[in-house]
Amino acid sequence: MLARYPLRVTASITLALLAPGPLAVGVVVVALVAVLVAWALRHRARADAMDAPLPKSAKKTLEQKVGYYRRLPAAEKVRFEREVKRFLFDQQISAPRGRAVPEDLKVLVAASAVMLVFGRKGYVYERTRDIVVYDEHFDTDYEQGASKNIAGMVHGAGPILFSARALRDGFANALDGHHVGLHEFAHVLDFHAGDADGVPSLMPWTSVSKWVEMIDVETDKIEARKSVLRDYGATNEAELFAVATEAFFEKPKQLAQKHPKLYAMLVETYGQDPASHA
Ligand SMILES: [Zn+2]
Repeated sequence: MLARYPLRVTASITLALLAPGPLAVGVVVVALVAVLVAWALRHRARADAMDAPLPKSAKKTLEQKVGYYRRLPAAEKVRFEREVKRFLFDQQISAPRGRAVPEDLKVLVAASAVMLVFGRKGYVYERTRDIVVYDEHFDTDYEQGASKNIAGMVHGAGPILFSARALRDGFANALDGHHVGLHEFAHVLDFHAGDADGVPSLMPWTSVSKWVEMIDVETDKIEARKSVLRDYGATNEAELFAVATEAFFEKPKQLAQKHPKLYAMLVETYGQDPASHA
């Protein structure tokens, strides 16, 4: 809804230029006031949402299903909860055809996104796309079913799609290097810098050329069956980064031991060192 206001302002200003006079000035003033009021109301609603405590049921989901949250010290848990609230306020999460999504699934989507950027204080995901949660895996025609094979998908300028089953599995099996929530939000960070080219926007620019070289080395290791990363990472540069992200959070010690350079660059990118408290 908010995105329409700038269009209305543009239309009003165009009208004003075509028909100068007191009426036109009035139209511009009214349009500007409408924009300011809408902005102030949303700002206030966001502040209220951030001040309100996270619902007990949502906190229970974090405690029971999100090992990353469970291991945080108390003060960091509070910060994590705050980032979950911010994400849930800012983003639109629904099921196909606008159906509601259960709260625990929304919390798992938010927790995935927050885990990735928790070491980058102040980072806020832009509200640029809808998040759609299907019950099951799906195919490229968005047909669902147990025989379908897509667990999650990010469109460059469109929605982010998840299978609820895959999302739950990702949190239930936190050590297997397979987590659709982390995987898809890694793509979001990658798309953020333009195309999905395997170079995330969080990476310091001085590291980019080293990272691009490493993508080739790591792809060769997967193909030679000498990698901690799962095979899907060899698909292309973007998948290498997303799969490496999954391993970074789910197999940090193995990754640090067997791929120390890759691990060090991910520490630098994400601003956190999961191997130190795994
Ligand atoms: Zn992917």
